[in-house]
Amino acid sequence: MFFIANWKMFGGLNSLNSINKVLGFLKKFKSTRLAKIIYCPPNTLICPMAKKLKSTRIDVGAQNCHKSESFGAFTGSINSSMLRNVGAKYVIIGHSENRSEGENDKLINLKIKSAIKSGLKVIFCIGETLKEKRKKVTNKILNKQMSIGLKKIRNKKNIIIAYEPVWAIGTGLVPNSKDLRKTVDFIKGKNKNLKVLYGGSVNPKNINELKNIKNIDGFLIGGASQDPKKFIDIIKKTYN
Ligand code: PEP
Repeated sequence: MFFIANWKMFGGLNSLNSINKVLGFLKKFKSTRLAKIIYCPPNTLICPMAKKLKSTRIDVGAQNCHKSESFGAFTGSINSSMLRNVGAKYVIIGHSENRSEGENDKLINLKIKSAIKSGLKVIFCIGETLKEKRKKVTNKILNKQMSIGLKKIRNKKNIIIAYEPVWAIGTGLVPNSKDLRKTVDFIKGKNKNLKVLYGGSVNPKNINELKNIKNIDGFLIGGASQDPKKFIDIIKKTYN
């Protein structure tokens, strides 16, 4: 099972100490040996975090990257090879918080290609808005995001899909189990052999229900991942 911590735009150097609790927990609870834990901090923390977590079971990822893996005149941007160079192994691409800033499916496709070229593994986010859910066009929207986002990518072995309904992110709402299982099945049906994670308000209270949805391969966790106690609780309950 994957447990991916998305710290979003939170955290300074002192936040790195919070991971000590998680490392201690992993050593103590052997049942978590199948857990794959990845921290995606803001770019400013990737290098020190990767140094801190070297020779541990936790990997580091970024939250986005530029579409070009080469250097260039793109003020304020960071590309996939630069992320790799400072120790990132993964990158989140297509998060709804970036889509809402104007990132479209075509750009996401270029970013995924660039990340793969640089040797990063991609956590590709897809999800419908509340309006789309109400219109019952969830599968149509997901299909469009997947077919454009993954266009002309033949080797998908380094791609993990994160299904994140936009209306569930940071709201405390989660889809009901039956709908979620069906949607994950739909995504898996379109992408044979790819891992599919769920993200959107995962917390220590709802994990008992979510972990029972057997086709889910792990979780992308935003808010709750910034609190080591909550993050540990989520992992612990998953294996209980
Ligand atoms: C996210 O940012 O990917 C996310 C799922 O956030 P939250 O857990 O806070 O809803």
